[in-house]
Amino acid sequence: MSVLLEARDLHKAYRRPQGDVVVLNGCDFSLTAGESVAVIGPSGAGKSTLLNLLGTLDSPDRGELLHEGQPLDLARMRTLVHWRQRIVGFVFQFHFLLPDFTALENLLVPARMMGEPSADVRARADHLLDALDLSARADHLPGELSGGEQQRVAVARAFMNRPEIVLADEPFGNLDRTKSERLGELLMQLSQREGTALVIVTHDLRLAARADRILKLDDGRLQPAASEELRP
Ligand code: ADP
Repeated sequence: MSVLLEARDLHKAYRRPQGDVVVLNGCDFSLTAGESVAVIGPSGAGKSTLLNLLGTLDSPDRGELLHEGQPLDLARMRTLVHWRQRIVGFVFQFHFLLPDFTALENLLVPARMMGEPSADVRARADHLLDALDLSARADHLPGELSGGEQQRVAVARAFMNRPEIVLADEPFGNLDRTKSERLGELLMQLSQREGTALVIVTHDLRLAARADRILKLDDGRLQPAASEELRP
């Protein structure tokens, strides 16, 4: 299988007057096309930081990111924005839906910025809403949706542009366990059907167990999670 995204020797520290917080310390990672990887680790281990670096929302102090073997020029924000829009979809802990737009409109916003969405784009949005059991909620505003429904819209939005990679940061951490498991299942199914690679940060070991691989972030590096760490 070809490597889609690779991170080499990532270092990241947050500078503070009281002293630097070293978060990543020589972290390596690779992701093949279509695979799912769960990232676990204690709170504060740097999981969100890692996801932000993989998605080029932040840049490392040192280290490289390669897409299909080509190094990304992390200093060129403008090129990176295009790369990110084409290649990556994000789901965050908080949904970040636009409150004055319906569920459907939230999916169409990026296309709307370039004019009237085409029939294809509309069909794609309808398909994703359907895949996430949201067809009956398409014309609801985010404030009229439950927490689980809001996160499902956020998941649908992440897949709108047919990204190669979806990065999900504790996407269902605020939901109860049953809802979180159900949504995790939907997210994994959708990635599989779409052939999208998925990196999901989660503390839910049952959800993590559904991924192709589980990695643990500890001491600023990733390593395969040991089996005794995976007992729920
Ligand atoms: P996780 O997602 O594993 O909980 P984070 O990546 O959010 O971990 O944070 C890793 C560490 O970096 C934490 O100790 C956190 O307090 C610290 N940190 C995160 N963002 C900042 C920041 N902007 N400034 C200073 N410290 C930060």
